[in-house]
Amino acid sequence: MTTEQVEEKEFQTETQKMLDLMINSIYTNQEIFLRELIANASDAIDKVKFQSLTETDILEGDSDFEIWLDIDEANNVFIIEDNGIGMTYDEVVENIGTIAQSGSQMFIEKLQKQEAEKEDAVNLIGQFGVGFYSSFMVAEKVTLITRAPKQDSGVKWESTGDGTYTIEEIDKAKRGTTIKLHLREDFTSDGDEIDLTKQHNIERLVKKYSNYVEYPIKMKFKEEDEEGEVQTEVKTLNTMKPLWTRNKNEIEDEEYNEFYKEVFKDWNEPLEVIHSQVEGLVKYSTLLFIPQQAPANIFAEDFNQGLRLYSKNNFVMDNCQQLLPDYLRFVRGLVDSPDFTLNLSRETLQNDKQLKIISKNLKKAVLKQLKSMLADESEQYKQFWNEFGQLIKSGINTNYGSEQEELVDLLVFPSSHSEGKLITLAEYVERMEEEQEVIYYVTGEDEQTVEKLPQMELLQEKGLEVLYFFDEIDEFAIDSLREYEGIEFKSVLRGDLDLEDEEQDTELDEDEAAELLTAIEENLENKVDEVRLSKRLKSSAVCLVSGDMGMSMSMEKVLQRMDKNMGQAQRILEINPQHELFNKLETIYNHQGNSEELAEYSELLYSLASLIEGFTPEDPVKFSDKITELMVKAD
Ligand code: ADP
Repeated sequence: MTTEQVEEKEFQTETQKMLDLMINSIYTNQEIFLRELIANASDAIDKVKFQSLTETDILEGDSDFEIWLDIDEANNVFIIEDNGIGMTYDEVVENIGTIAQSGSQMFIEKLQKQEAEKEDAVNLIGQFGVGFYSSFMVAEKVTLITRAPKQDSGVKWESTGDGTYTIEEIDKAKRGTTIKLHLREDFTSDGDEIDLTKQHNIERLVKKYSNYVEYPIKMKFKEEDEEGEVQTEVKTLNTMKPLWTRNKNEIEDEEYNEFYKEVFKDWNEPLEVIHSQVEGLVKYSTLLFIPQQAPANIFAEDFNQGLRLYSKNNFVMDNCQQLLPDYLRFVRGLVDSPDFTLNLSRETLQNDKQLKIISKNLKKAVLKQLKSMLADESEQYKQFWNEFGQLIKSGINTNYGSEQEELVDLLVFPSSHSEGKLITLAEYVERMEEEQEVIYYVTGEDEQTVEKLPQMELLQEKGLEVLYFFDEIDEFAIDSLREYEGIEFKSVLRGDLDLEDEEQDTELDEDEAAELLTAIEENLENKVDEVRLSKRLKSSAVCLVSGDMGMSMSMEKVLQRMDKNMGQAQRILEINPQHELFNKLETIYNHQGNSEELAEYSELLYSLASLIEGFTPEDPVKFSDKITELMVKAD
């Protein structure tokens, strides 16, 4: 029974303030109004559906839950209709005339504070879920017609957002809510991307923001056929397949793969899928994918791929980087949480407590998956490691403490004993020799290069396993790690190896050689920090090593390539006392002292050792002249 009485009411002051802001705002993201209205419609359907579980007659035969969009082009009106729970007269006054929602309340508080502080009000809207009122960003007048289940009459509410609204009872046959937006001129201009009288624009917005809303969002498309007759075709604009809300056990691998390829635009299937639904302190579903291949720009500074956020199937934001640590930036996927407000902004994200908890959980889930891949699917892990290992190492390099600990067990390296396979640090430690106290590693280009390094000779003879570091970042990561399970890392190319060579009679040499070494050191004063007898060389004559502390020579090279001049690594020239060349040096010194010849020999020794390390001799011409000279002299 309708009373046919139109009442004019005033908006609550706060509501009006918000509306003013909405209308006058130059907020650029007006298109989100559609997401807000569709989200409300979907919520309303949820409610009636839920209620119908206990009150079977509530649906009144209308149980095909749908959201309809329509455009009245002649009158510049956009229409959205749902068969949800609707509202009674009192509910309209309560819900639409006043601001009771917490999100809106916060919005108002912030607004008042802002007025006091004369801050810029532009993006305020973007930070809060202000739902229904966002209609006024695109409409000069909004009409809402609604009827709750089992009511005799419906309610019509109308406002131009200028302080008052009218409300009256009317007849409405169907349950649910219809909202008519009388569009502002800016949203009807032809050819504009946000011309809301154009169906393709509406379709685009639905796909962007509401693709996974679980009820069909339908629209009648009118098209002229060849004879000029107008045909109508009903299209469902959303795909409605929020895979992440479904029970894991009922989803086929193929469905995950297809979803991934379609949504994240990848040709390849994902290497791994992580799907979890969490109910607890925070509530969220997540669907994460580890791709097979890294995108080409993954190391670019402006790489900004992140996760997608949804709130109850409504799109909130793309490329949200706050959810995973930087070193996991290769992970694709989405998180859906009812705790995210629809208008979550990048600024408010920083302080979002829920988000922090979720992000912690996501990191854990990804690392756990990687660990189980490493344990159970070594081929797959190898593929992963080739693509993304560097990122994990960068995570070790840029974090410390427990953050670092979480990543250590993901590290794998080739080694002198692994026959091309990659081994974990745990595996290395497990098969260490009884008296071995450190984890040996060597840096270099590839297997062939490092296996031939003079510095490897003694270790090779003793059969000690050496990890191979072929990635530039390896030594940096290990350097910041320092130790594994209390065992220190030791570069074969640095410091003293502290290894006893049974075949070597060093004591005698050292005493006899002390003066000679000092002489050579003087000759190479600006080049090396120390000259000493080598305990690691077997058949080679000389090598360069760096000190235990500070930068290594390979680090120096990396930094140089990156144009970061951090100075030089400490250089120690080691001479093999067992080598014939050493006898020659002794002979020269014993006969002539520190002569010109010894000076030349010193230079040559240094150049040779540098060459092995991959440094060019300082004066290549002089170096080759000297070698030529020696070759001519030789019998
Ligand atoms: P929010 O959606 O954040 O609660 P809104 O301003 O969008 O804030 O809506 C206020 C209230 O109006 C909603 O909580 C709901 O009760 C009611 N409402 C809005 N749209 C609809 C609709 N389509 N059907 C039924 N109720 C609605």
